[in-house]
Amino acid sequence: MTVRAYAPGRVNLIGEHTDYNDGFALPIALGVGTVAEFDRATAGAVIEVSSAQERGTVLIPLDTTPGGVGGWAAYVAGCVWALRDHGIEVPPGKLRLSSNVPVGAGLSSSAALECAVLLALAPSSDLDRTELARIAQRAENTYVGAPTGLLDQMASLYGDVDTALLLDFRSLSVDPVSMHLGGDVLLAIDSRTPHQHAAGEYRRRREACEAAAAQLGVASLRDAPDDAWEHLADDEIRRRARHVLTENRRVLDAAAALRAADHAALGALMNASQDSMRDDFEITVPAIDLIAATAVELGAHGARMTGGGFGGTVIALAPEDAAQRIADVLPGRVSAAGHPAPTVAAVRPGRGAHILPEV
Ligand code: ADP
Ligand code: MG
Repeated sequence: MTVRAYAPGRVNLIGEHTDYNDGFALPIALGVGTVAEFDRATAGAVIEVSSAQERGTVLIPLDTTPGGVGGWAAYVAGCVWALRDHGIEVPPGKLRLSSNVPVGAGLSSSAALECAVLLALAPSSDLDRTELARIAQRAENTYVGAPTGLLDQMASLYGDVDTALLLDFRSLSVDPVSMHLGGDVLLAIDSRTPHQHAAGEYRRRREACEAAAAQLGVASLRDAPDDAWEHLADDEIRRRARHVLTENRRVLDAAAALRAADHAALGALMNASQDSMRDDFEITVPAIDLIAATAVELGAHGARMTGGGFGGTVIALAPEDAAQRIADVLPGRVSAAGHPAPTVAAVRPGRGAHILPEV
C-alpha cells in the first residue's frame, strides 16, 4: 500500500525572527507544497529516497544518527532519526518526493519536505500537530544543522484555506484568523537572490537576542516590556532587541487589522516591519529593499521581506489594479538597477498538511 502525504510551503505575513524569542508570528500556508509517497517494505533496514527535484537515490539506514547522511537527503534522514528518537517506529521502504515549492526562495521548501515526510512515514501515529512540528524542527536543527525556529513547520501543519495563523511561540497556541482577500491580491515576489551567509548571520542574530535578554535580566525577550530596548547600552544589541519587541507588537496589531478586514492598516504594519528588518535587524539586502519600496510606490498597501532574510521573497498586499502594475513594471525596474529580475506570483492561504486519498 502506498501512503501519500502533502505539506505546503508558507509565507509569513509578519513576525520575523520572533519565533526563537518566544514571540508571535502571523503566517499562512500556501497552495503549493511537497508530496511524499511511501511504499513500506516487509523487510530491510533502509529507506530508499528519491526526489523529482534531485538526481539519484539515497539509502538512509533506519538507525541513522546526525552526521550520517548529508546533502538534500539529510532533511529526510533527520525526520527518520527524530521520529525514532521520539519512540516512533519507522518501517523500511521506498520514499518518493516531488514538490512545487521553489527551493531556497524563502517559502520554506524545507518545512514542506519535513512535514510531508513525517506524515508519510508515521501516518497512524497519535502525535498531534505541535509534536510533529517539534520533531520536524529537531530534524532540521540537530540533524541538518540549521538553527531555525518552529514557525515554518507550524504554518505547514496548521494552515488552512482563507486562514492566517496567529502563533504564540511561548504557549505554542494557534489562533486561526480568517483572511479574505476581497478585492486585494497577495503577491509573492521572488527576488531570485538566494540567501547567502544566511546560516551564520541567523546564528549571530539569535546570539544578539540572547545577549539582549541576558542584559535585561529576563529569560527571553518576550518577558521584557515593550520599551526595554531603550536600556541597552550597545547600539547593535539595542537595535536587535528593538526589532523583536516592536515586531511582536506589530504581529498582534496585524491580527487585529486582519480581523477588521482593514488591509490599509495591515499594509502599514508590513511596511514598518520591512523598515525594522532593514534598519534594526539588518537582515535585508539591497534587491529586497528595492522590491519592497517599488511595490509600495506602485500602489501596494504594504510590502515586506518574508522569511529568515538575506534574500528570498517579498510579499506585497495590493489592490487588484496595483497588483497588475507591479507584475508588469516591477521586474524591469529591479533588473534595470542591476539585480536579477524578480518573478511575481499571486498566492493565497491554502490547506495545511494532510494524507492524500489513495490513487
Ligand atoms: P527554503 O526552506 O527557504 O526553501 P532551505 O535552505 O531552508 O530553503 O531549504 C532548502 C533545502 O531543502 C534544499 O537545498 C534541499 O536540500 C532541501 N529540499 C527542499 N525541498 C526539496 C525537495 N523537493 N527535494 C529534495 N530536497 C529538497
Ligand atoms: Mg527552510
